[in-house]
Amino acid sequence: MQKYLNVLLFLMLSNFGIPIVSTIAADGTKASLTLKRSAHPTSMKLIEPGVFDVPLVLSKSLEPRRSEFRQNVIDAQKKLRAFAKSNAWEQLTDKPLIKRVEVYDTKDGWDNRLRQFYPKEAPKVIPKTFSAAIEKDIFFAVSPDVYLKNYPDGKDEPRAFEKLITHELAHRLHVRICKGDESKMGPIWFWEGFAVYAADQLNYNRPNLSEREIWNIVDAKERGSYRKYNVVFRHFLKKTDSLSDYVSRAGKPDFMQWLKKESKEG
Ligand SMILES: [Zn+2]
Repeated sequence: MQKYLNVLLFLMLSNFGIPIVSTIAADGTKASLTLKRSAHPTSMKLIEPGVFDVPLVLSKSLEPRRSEFRQNVIDAQKKLRAFAKSNAWEQLTDKPLIKRVEVYDTKDGWDNRLRQFYPKEAPKVIPKTFSAAIEKDIFFAVSPDVYLKNYPDGKDEPRAFEKLITHELAHRLHVRICKGDESKMGPIWFWEGFAVYAADQLNYNRPNLSEREIWNIVDAKERGSYRKYNVVFRHFLKKTDSLSDYVSRAGKPDFMQWLKKESKEG
């Protein structure tokens, strides 16, 4: 499982640029997904700078909500564009970060889609909270209803699904900031914290963490709570000149030493 997760984490951040030529059906029932012909990726329309009319592939039962999902994708891109702009990364969102969005009405459908990307590595049981990813420039997620059911932390969060999309897009932006070098994205709490921060997720009732708890999260080998990552990310952000400075520090080999030094100096 751990090995798979590492592979997954690596691959989740990878961009192979391989065109998808095989079936897009994830649950074995090809007919349950529909892609509007007019929405062919090569004709992706620019709505405004950094915001594209990304083709949508939906489970059949979600088809009546197509305009709602289309708006979610537009709003998520707008949100990321604004975030990028406020940090002088605007140009990095000039080109589309994804070429397609797929929304699945069941967790099984989504899990099967993930398995298509990792036929060898995928475990029998994919964690319940895994709800969205970007692979080969395709964003795929469970429906908002399934998401909130499986990820109670996102409950009570306004625009939770839109933020989930922004979160995944933020990972892609982060890769571009690092000029494609994923080894410069820092430790997991950092790059997940970055995406949570960019998407303005889980930003209510933030837990108070002691210095000790913060360090437990920094030192942890296992994947942890996004709610806590958000707090840790913001904790050290306060000690830097800018977000851009913080992001470049995280990619350096002495990042840990820097964190320790800043902690001592309070
Ligand atoms: Zn993430």
